[in-house]
Amino acid sequence: MDNSKRNFLKIAGFSLLGIGAHPLKKILASKEEPKFLPPPKALPGKRWAMVIDIKKCKTDCYDCINACHQLHNVPNFGNPKDEVKWIWKEPYEKVFPGEENKYTAEYIDQTLKGIEFLLLCNHCDNPPCVRVCPTKATWKRADGIVMMDYHRCIGCRFCMAACPYGSRSLNWRDPRPFIKTINKEFPTRTRGVVEKCNFCSERLAKGLMPACVEACKEKALVFGDLEDPNSPVRELLRSHHSIRRKAHLGTMPQIYYIV
Ligand code: SF4
Repeated sequence: MDNSKRNFLKIAGFSLLGIGAHPLKKILASKEEPKFLPPPKALPGKRWAMVIDIKKCKTDCYDCINACHQLHNVPNFGNPKDEVKWIWKEPYEKVFPGEENKYTAEYIDQTLKGIEFLLLCNHCDNPPCVRVCPTKATWKRADGIVMMDYHRCIGCRFCMAACPYGSRSLNWRDPRPFIKTINKEFPTRTRGVVEKCNFCSERLAKGLMPACVEACKEKALVFGDLEDPNSPVRELLRSHHSIRRKAHLGTMPQIYYIV
């Protein structure tokens, strides 16, 4: 037997005895959560959130929706039954049901009724969708973003039932033929997979703002770090009254509306 073969067998033997595997054993036995370092260019943020100034948001403008849906390969099936959406608009009365009482009805009637509100996943601090997912296909990152792993999703729709905001959509059919131009830099989904807004996690990792924020000419959408007292979101929340959708449910939504 030549020397190289002898050396190889020696190493293989040590490995089988577990001598070389010692550090791995230590890692596996550790109770600590694995630490993932963000890419070097990523935007630094401890708790991402969005503030939407509804007075600046134009009813007939869909720039943010188009930018988001194009970038993320969101299909357009052409009928409301199969609709898949990451960001969309609905009138005040549907978005904030129960906010009205007989004393505020007049004010709401005159100022807010009929105004279209921009909606997306609220990236809740206490997300019920995450709690009910049996395969851990959806989870909350340390920076607050509620993520989706399309490969783990089994299409059970528990998350859709748990989300009180209708922020999740199921692909009832293969979405690929219904995407106008496929963006090859973002994954397409398959039939039976749930999807939703990801706060543009892939753009944040490159140091870019979410696509909807960048697309809005009126600067109605402001994105930033709630943990940073000098961030633009904190500045807006300090200086304006804001409301959140169904905050009484305890989900702690992180999209704030200035009305
Ligand atoms: Fe989950 Fe719905 Fe909250 Fe988004 S809005 S984190 S999908 S519960």
